[in-house]
Amino acid sequence: MQRDLMDILACPICKAELTLDVASEQDGEVIEGILTCTQCAEVYPIAEGIPNLLPPDLRRELEAEQAASSGGGR
Ligand SMILES: [Zn+2]
Repeated sequence: MQRDLMDILACPICKAELTLDVASEQDGEVIEGILTCTQCAEVYPIAEGIPNLLPPDLRRELEAEQAASSGGGR
C-alpha cells in the first residue's frame, strides 16, 4: 500500500486514526507492516502490500473458514 493511504485509512471499529509500523517496504510502498488504532489499540496487519482492515472478529471468522475449506491437510 502507498503511505498516502494512511490519510484515508481509519479504524473500522471506532473510526480513529491508525499508526503505521513498517516491517518491509519497497519502492515507497509498504509491503508488510502493522496498523495500530490510536484509540482502541486494535491491530491490523498489512500483508503483500494490502492492509487488512476487517474487524478482528470477522477476520478471525474468515481465517477459520479459509482454513476449514482449503482442506489441504497433509
Ligand atoms: Zn479503533
